[in-house]
Amino acid sequence: MEIFKELNTRGHEQISFFNDSHSGLKGIVAIHNTTLGPALGGCRMWNYKNEKEAIIDVLRLSKGMTYKASIAGLNLGGGKAVIIGDSKKDKTDKLFESFGRFVEGLGGRYITAEDVGTSIHDMENVKKETNHVTGIAQSLGGSGDPSPVTAFGVYIGMKASVKEKFNKNSLEGLKVSVQGLGHVGSHLVDYLIKDGAEVYVADIERKRVDNIVKKYGCIAVDKDEILNQVVDIYAPCALGATVNETSISRLNCKIIAGAANNVLKNAITDSELLVKKEILYAPDYVINAGGLINVANELEGYNKDKAFNQAEKIYDTLMSIFKRAKLESITTNQAAALQAEDRIKKISKSRNN
Ligand code: NAD
Repeated sequence: MEIFKELNTRGHEQISFFNDSHSGLKGIVAIHNTTLGPALGGCRMWNYKNEKEAIIDVLRLSKGMTYKASIAGLNLGGGKAVIIGDSKKDKTDKLFESFGRFVEGLGGRYITAEDVGTSIHDMENVKKETNHVTGIAQSLGGSGDPSPVTAFGVYIGMKASVKEKFNKNSLEGLKVSVQGLGHVGSHLVDYLIKDGAEVYVADIERKRVDNIVKKYGCIAVDKDEILNQVVDIYAPCALGATVNETSISRLNCKIIAGAANNVLKNAITDSELLVKKEILYAPDYVINAGGLINVANELEGYNKDKAFNQAEKIYDTLMSIFKRAKLESITTNQAAALQAEDRIKKISKSRNN
């Protein structure tokens, strides 16, 4: 593949490859844009079919981080790392120490964190070699599990969506379906119940559903039926791409607001289909930014209250996105992207003047 052509098309600044035959590390770091600050983004360990697939993934993910950080008002750029390998079989402490040396060599232009296939333990091995790492345990001065802040941000974003769609200030009496009761979904249910919502839940793990039903009295729904529920809000908190050309015809909700990344299979066409169905879509990288906000706080010395206060701003950010989408007759996805780009352009312009 033509690497520079790919970088130019996607607007990337840098891609770096790291090979260490001793530890077996084959790592790639992509830095998309550092106008707002150093590029922060997780390190994904995945058994990619080939190197091209790994390169495309790291380029796509790092660009997404630029938009997420910008719209969240953070002084951070977008970056991401991938390690080629099977996280269940190929992981060693040495591998992540080696990755730490790679990150250290980038001199602070890239700050890493956990992602799919990597854990707090792995980041602690990275920390042996570099300080440019976040997502460390609270006991070691880090920010720990980001899910409570992510869930709070999703709840706040849901309130903004409800204000926009129904002109209501709370979720009282509204029906919400939550798909996925993992780290984020289970915390989210707590906020929803406390605010008076009627909550429908599904997970592929029966035990998780049983626990939540027992604790909160939610209504259990089969995992294959959760998208068909007649609800006010659908909250995807499991996998990406659950909203697609096929599923949109089954959706019976007025709002989509959840934690999952890449909710729309095709960001352009699916968001247009949602507009036609008059379903309000809260863009994923805006509403789920609580996790990034949480790790970003670690850079200045972690303060839990500050992280929650920053996540609360997701309300105003979404309201301004909804307003712009209406004014310019564009989708909420397009409005969010333009808003993120505006901030970067403004800083870039003031620097170049
Ligand atoms: P998790 O792995 O803890 O939970 C995911 C849950 O979804 C699990 O309980 C799993 O059994 C369930 N699930 C998987 N497939 C399902 C299906 N088809 N139907 C129903 N349930 C299914 O993950 P998490 O940390 O809670 O994150 C949830 C989503 O939010 C992910 O897409 C993640 O990328 C995104 N996200 C998480 C954070 C965070 O702070 N954890 C931040 C931003 C975005």
